[in-house]
Amino acid sequence: MRILLATAASLALSGGFHGAAIAQTNTSTTVTTQDSLEGANYFELESSLPFKAPDFDAISEDDYMPAFEKAMAIQKGEIQRIVDNPAQPTFENTIVALEKSGRMLSRVGAVFFHLTGTNTNDRLDEINTEISPRLSAHSDSIVLNPELFARVKAVYDNRAAMSMTPEDAKLLEETYKSMVHAGAELTDAERERVKEINTELSTVTTEFAQEARNAMADQPVFFDSREDLAGLSESDITSAAKLAEEEGQPGKYAIALQNTTQQPLLPSMENRAAREKLFMASYHRADGTTDVDTRELVAKIVELRAEKAALFGEPDWASYTMYDRMVESPQAALDFMGQMVPALAETQRREGALLTEKIAEEGGDFEVQPWDWYRYANQIKAEQYQVDDDEVMQYFQLDKVLEDGVFYMAEKLYGLTFERRTDLPVYHPDVWVYTVKDRDGSDLGVFYFDPFQRPSKRGGAWMSNFVDQSYLWNEKPVIYNVLNIPKAPDGEPQLVSFDWVNTAFHEFGHALHGFFADQTYPSLSGTATARDFVEYPSQVHEMWATYPEVLRNYAKHVDTGETIPTELVDKIEASSKFNQGYDFGEVVEAALLDMKWHALSKAEAAAIDTPEKVSAYEDSALRDLGLEVDLVPPRYRTTYFNHIFSGPAGYSAGYYSYLWTQMLDRDSRAWFLQNGGLTRENGDHYRETVLSQGGTRDYSEMYRDFAGRDPDVQYMLIALGLAEEQPGTPEQTAGDSSDGKLPAGAVDGGASSAN
Ligand SMILES: [Zn+2]
Repeated sequence: MRILLATAASLALSGGFHGAAIAQTNTSTTVTTQDSLEGANYFELESSLPFKAPDFDAISEDDYMPAFEKAMAIQKGEIQRIVDNPAQPTFENTIVALEKSGRMLSRVGAVFFHLTGTNTNDRLDEINTEISPRLSAHSDSIVLNPELFARVKAVYDNRAAMSMTPEDAKLLEETYKSMVHAGAELTDAERERVKEINTELSTVTTEFAQEARNAMADQPVFFDSREDLAGLSESDITSAAKLAEEEGQPGKYAIALQNTTQQPLLPSMENRAAREKLFMASYHRADGTTDVDTRELVAKIVELRAEKAALFGEPDWASYTMYDRMVESPQAALDFMGQMVPALAETQRREGALLTEKIAEEGGDFEVQPWDWYRYANQIKAEQYQVDDDEVMQYFQLDKVLEDGVFYMAEKLYGLTFERRTDLPVYHPDVWVYTVKDRDGSDLGVFYFDPFQRPSKRGGAWMSNFVDQSYLWNEKPVIYNVLNIPKAPDGEPQLVSFDWVNTAFHEFGHALHGFFADQTYPSLSGTATARDFVEYPSQVHEMWATYPEVLRNYAKHVDTGETIPTELVDKIEASSKFNQGYDFGEVVEAALLDMKWHALSKAEAAAIDTPEKVSAYEDSALRDLGLEVDLVPPRYRTTYFNHIFSGPAGYSAGYYSYLWTQMLDRDSRAWFLQNGGLTRENGDHYRETVLSQGGTRDYSEMYRDFAGRDPDVQYMLIALGLAEEQPGTPEQTAGDSSDGKLPAGAVDGGASSAN
């Protein structure tokens, strides 16, 4: 994902208005380069390095603030020149001119927000705090500029009479729609009300985030005796004693809540009453059971969002916010999830019964409850699948995973080759740099790989661009992948867990989406696609991590050099299908709950005006789903569902994206396997129909071009063990055709699962 999207600066920097020259008449070949102007701010001029890669050796922390200020001023001037142009508005003098604006801002933002994510310090954090609201205001001043919108609208209204390439047409549409979405078409009074709502939402959602955090941080769960914590490790018990003491209750034990409904310590806890106590504290978080209660805030947020949607003439918030998605309406998202409900409910009941059996075997006389679930599920998993993570890791060394696994896959599928280079400056000594060569041997772009965990890096894994591919500026992609693999001590081999292997393939899938970009305009280039699409190409590439031919090339034992045994991979595969009634079920329930809250009309939302009514609505919404919500509660309940209620929009009406892209992914894996697996022909077809298309096309059409049909949810259900494989289904076919070594479907890793 683009890191810029995670910041307040997203729109100005990557939402449709990147690009822009220091002087608009320049083309990229004539723009002055860094060498020729001494004493200037680094970001004023284009990098003189190959591929315009950032020159980290030449950038000083003192450059950022003046660069942001100057860059905003330049873009402001560029916008003013568009508005002041005496000529009639045209695609070129308005839409393209806007696309070209803010080029220096893109340059400084791409480097600055990369570093605040990967190698930050107090100074960078301070600048970030100061600049983010200003960038956000700067972006508003463009998208809500009435004179600019008048010109954009004039071009848009004339579109039927113009001759444009499909990409031009898409740029026009996206530019127009994003301004309308921001409120450009509203009356002055409506726009004033939208601004008020935005401010109010910003306040109320921030309060929600703080209260939800307080409900975790300030309300640990206390236990009187050590016996209550039986089963926990010595260090967990010591921490619990320490926390109780810090909380003013020495001699007791306290456990802090984590953000999901399930709590990580529950499986280890032997004392059932203590498990129930911890679980119930989590489940009833911020719902009025204690003095922290977010229900009034929820009522307010839902009401404000519905009101805002109504001002835009939309029936509900979900309809308003899904305007640029692949799934175009709340009903379509609900229908999609509805298809999984019968199989999922059945699996929840079946797994529940299995766990109750297990409990009886152990001498217990009770039916499984949510606080028991993982304790017994983990026991079954350990007995049946016996996957020893340490043993698995011996087969995965980082350099081999990247060069003999990920790069090998890219060579087989797409004909790419890679050359390590050490001449380009890096921002940290642990960053590796490669030139990527295309199938015809020409330069495709540059790839930075930043694999290791460090205190200055935020958690997780992600991809973004230093330079976006575009023909407008004649630029090739400069792309990075960031991971958080624990670094081995000096002198020891760098082994990685299977989850990180999967993540490396996943992130490189994003990178390929960026490298194969074939667009004129940077704002439609590569991964600049919808929230419910962008994770799909990356997830598909996880399939190759366990594909026999790839695996044989890179998964070699660190001491013996032996290839990973088939049985071990089989076990990893099989264990991934177990417990999906819970693992998958809780995510589906959260996604459905999100959609239920955001598909309310203004009148419906306004009627939910007391804490009691918030609880009642949640309860009825969950009951309506047809899932076993008492046995498997949602991953987040309303009162602490931060993804959707913290931040003015957050992931609201978007939590389903995790499921949707997984569905596309599984359907695509089936296509690859039905068509012969890892071949250049398949890779070239995927590149042609999907990876090279950026955000230029209708997503459903794009998908049909690739697969020759609409995606089918069945393959996801099979992969999750929620539906039976039919004879001759792709996984079996592939097993047969790849000399029977390993099943070819891959295992999901950390990167693609919901958090
Ligand atoms: Zn991703």
